[in-house]
Amino acid sequence: MTLKARAKEKVERAGISNYSFDQDVLVMCGVRYSVEACDCGEPDCDGVRLRKNLAAINRNLQ
Ligand SMILES: [Zn+2]
Repeated sequence: MTLKARAKEKVERAGISNYSFDQDVLVMCGVRYSVEACDCGEPDCDGVRLRKNLAAINRNLQ
């Protein structure tokens, strides 16, 4: 499964349906998240990590 597909699954599991993808960036409520692989090894880890993409937000504000 691709990282993007995993992120989609993670978001939908959290009950969020109002989201979209801009290339590989997840956009939720106007906030952009980088989708990264997670290899922390936690038993409940789904292998994907969402990181707030602050650089993109700042760029949009300018
Ligand atoms: Zn993890």
